[in-house]
Amino acid sequence: NNRYLISVLLTTNFDNFLYMKYYGLRNQGATCYLNSILQALFMTREFREAVKSCSKHHKDDINVQLNTLFESLKKKTSETTEVTKTLRIEKVYEQQDAGQYLEKILSDVSDEASKVFKGELIHRTVCDQCGSHTDDEVPFFFLSLPLMDSSNGNYSVEDGIQAFLK
Ligand SMILES: [Zn+2]
Repeated sequence: NNRYLISVLLTTNFDNFLYMKYYGLRNQGATCYLNSILQALFMTREFREAVKSCSKHHKDDINVQLNTLFESLKKKTSETTEVTKTLRIEKVYEQQDAGQYLEKILSDVSDEASKVFKGELIHRTVCDQCGSHTDDEVPFFFLSLPLMDSSNGNYSVEDGIQAFLK
């Protein structure tokens, strides 16, 4: 639920295109959940470049669709119809979960592109008798954070991460 959870894309390579104009993605109905993901992916230079280099030896898959969209987004307001077709989103008037589609896109793109966002969580179970522990390593593409109201009335992602790691 996008009102209570925020997905943090774990990358520090967000571009700041100070020199260029930003363009939007047209909403096909209720595809804003998808548009927000696509814009975040577009703004991540490392991801954009990986998708570009992979699209050269791929045909008609998500790498190619994303690269075509990203090239278009540099110049004009763009359509997402080809991307929704590739993702098999038919009900464009239905709101979907952003995190779920981020995961789907990152699972479908090349390894080179998906690794830009890949992290690993370690779930540690500690025995309260002897203190020994076992670790479970779980790969992830995003974290669902509780939105914490900070003292000045703004929501803080940092507080959300702290709460998540507790
Ligand atoms: Zn024990």
